[in-house]
Amino acid sequence: MLAHASRTPLWGRKIQFRISRITEALASLKILISNDDGYRAEGLRALTEALGQIAEITVVAPDRNRSGASNSLTLDVPLRVMAYDENKYLVANGTPTDCVHLAVSGLFDFDHDMVVSGINDGANLGDDVLYSGTVAAAIEGRFLGLPAIALSLVIEPNSGQHFATAARVATELLMRVQRTPFHQATILNVNVPDVPYEALKGYQATRLGFRHRSERIVRSEDPRGRPVYWVGPAGMGHDAGPGTDFHAVANGYVSVTPLQIDLTRHAVLDDVRDWLQGRQA
Ligand code: MN
Repeated sequence: MLAHASRTPLWGRKIQFRISRITEALASLKILISNDDGYRAEGLRALTEALGQIAEITVVAPDRNRSGASNSLTLDVPLRVMAYDENKYLVANGTPTDCVHLAVSGLFDFDHDMVVSGINDGANLGDDVLYSGTVAAAIEGRFLGLPAIALSLVIEPNSGQHFATAARVATELLMRVQRTPFHQATILNVNVPDVPYEALKGYQATRLGFRHRSERIVRSEDPRGRPVYWVGPAGMGHDAGPGTDFHAVANGYVSVTPLQIDLTRHAVLDDVRDWLQGRQA
């Protein structure tokens, strides 16, 4: 069992009473932080710095970049957990899902209240959520009974990578959760435009859009002339109109999409029942 490493001080005394009441409440909130870019990632560091100011945090993150790991669990080799930076970061040789699973299912001698995952180095919009390890970490938290938020920075070429903006958004969302908890069975998938905080237009509740199909695979050759392949880049937004996550971030808003895990296509359930009966007849 690993005891909790450190408890961080509240914000300074000059802040308003209302805010300080919220942060006092938040300070007792135990937040598990993970990501899929690995424990060295700038986004994880930014998130840890920001949330460490207002809540009790623990970090359990993969030892390397596991982007695209989706909800995979490691079942063929044992998992090891190492502590870095005076126990500030616990690092596992597994996937984001492994990390959250370990943390919530017995690694600690206390329970967490919430899982926050990210800040991912890149968008998780539309169908990205099916591949994303960032979103998977949040989903695992939800599976294990905790409210969960996944945060991603929508990085544009040469945009400056404003992880601080997304970190501030994370803080604001946590303060909002503390004031008014959202439905426990919901995962919030949050995408933040890569701009200075002052340039954000606000928040929008959105639905997932979806992308055009991915670009073709990239074939190359290793030094011995043997073919190797890279998965090609994700497609551009296809269903990206008003109301979607794509549209919100393209217009400078923080996109907040509530996710559910039930993939059943309920609208077609009766049709499949009829189809099966017809086939049997
Ligand atoms: Mn990633």
